[in-house]
Amino acid sequence: MTNRKPKLAIVLGIRPDVIRASLFLNLIRADPRVEVTFIWSGQHYSDNLKDVFFRELGVKPPEIELDARGSNDAEVSSSIIARLYPVLERLRPDAALFLGDTNTVISCLAAAQLNIPIIHFEGCMRSYDWRMPEEKYRGVIDHLADVIYTYYPEYKRQGVDEGINPRSIVVVTNPIVDVLQKYYFERKEFYDRLASDEFFASRGIERGNYYAMTCHRRENVHLKESFRTILDLVGAAPRKVYFPASYRTQKVLQEYGFHLPPNVVMVDPVGYHEFLVLMTRSAGVITDSGTVVEETAVLGIPSVQMRKATERPQTYDVKSSVKFDPTLPDRYPARTVFAKLEYLRGRKWKHGLGDGSASERIYRDVVERLLTDRVAMHRPRDYHLDIRRSYREDGIALRAPGGARQRSSGKPSARTASGGRR
Ligand code: UDP
Repeated sequence: MTNRKPKLAIVLGIRPDVIRASLFLNLIRADPRVEVTFIWSGQHYSDNLKDVFFRELGVKPPEIELDARGSNDAEVSSSIIARLYPVLERLRPDAALFLGDTNTVISCLAAAQLNIPIIHFEGCMRSYDWRMPEEKYRGVIDHLADVIYTYYPEYKRQGVDEGINPRSIVVVTNPIVDVLQKYYFERKEFYDRLASDEFFASRGIERGNYYAMTCHRRENVHLKESFRTILDLVGAAPRKVYFPASYRTQKVLQEYGFHLPPNVVMVDPVGYHEFLVLMTRSAGVITDSGTVVEETAVLGIPSVQMRKATERPQTYDVKSSVKFDPTLPDRYPARTVFAKLEYLRGRKWKHGLGDGSASERIYRDVVERLLTDRVAMHRPRDYHLDIRRSYREDGIALRAPGGARQRSSGKPSARTASGGRR
């Protein structure tokens, strides 16, 4: 290893990426031993989906903006790949880090094409619901990644069962616990002040007497029937529903000509401070967001998960969440769903999602690996499989002019099967 500072590129692109990685970003960007370049793909770009989170979480804005755009997943992801490639080619980082399961994550292909080792933050999560684009992206990046930070041993088992090298997977617990500790629990008075009578009056809701809602998943809003059953569900809620709706959801709502039930107040997406107030002062949260079900479990607020399958079954384990499958409304009648939600209200559970040190763990491990040249994990010697046949010799023996045979065993040489850099 030379004295050169190792370089890390961090590639993010949507609202929850900033939230989830906020502490990690601040730790690693303050470390003088590594040179970090934070790249924003442009998948989310409006102030209320991007910049507000940098401001509220005290995260320095990205050094590079790719400004990728597109009107469907293929256009967005290919635009990010095409724009990221020349940036990585110029930067030549020692590793590129991606988070989660988004169109931005799929731009890890640009890093792979350039033989830049890939780090996956939030790896090995699986819902096994193949309707979700995210589910395919998870599999792709986990198989390309050299290092995977996963939250729980059960996630690591999933990855190993799929053939991923166990030595590439590091269990760290869930950083959302650290984030809420730092930005919510340690600043409770700030949120108490924000949650004024005026806050609720101006939004047309009463403190403690409404449900907060989010809904954006493709398999929920793009399937007309599922979206209709979701609207029927919230229309049957015994309280008002305050719904900061993603722009995609608003657009589909219009396209389908659906009308919101009268108890639903729909607004544009809001900043993190505001959403934390909305969650913590609600009677419960109705959502299809992965991050929100974790947050509510940690904040002690019950939730309804509008999902057929989840990659976060832990929230059911601790009984902080009620299931609603939008494709099977008869099996999950609104009356039962809301009776369960109300039953959970005020109950306590141990969320068990983390110990508040996940961001720090990821930061330390990434820096340690960069400093000791231990990021790349696809060198022949790293494989956990028997790869000798791929590296075997040809086994062809030629007769030397004197008649003696030159031997070529067909077995791999020690050098080719275990050494060599990629
Ligand atoms: N959130 C927010 N404002 C909103 C809705 C959500 O700040 O109007 C936060 C929420 O607390 C969570 C994250 O955004 O931290 C969830 O984002 P999203 O549902 O888009 O992503 P997912 O978790 O499904 O990947």
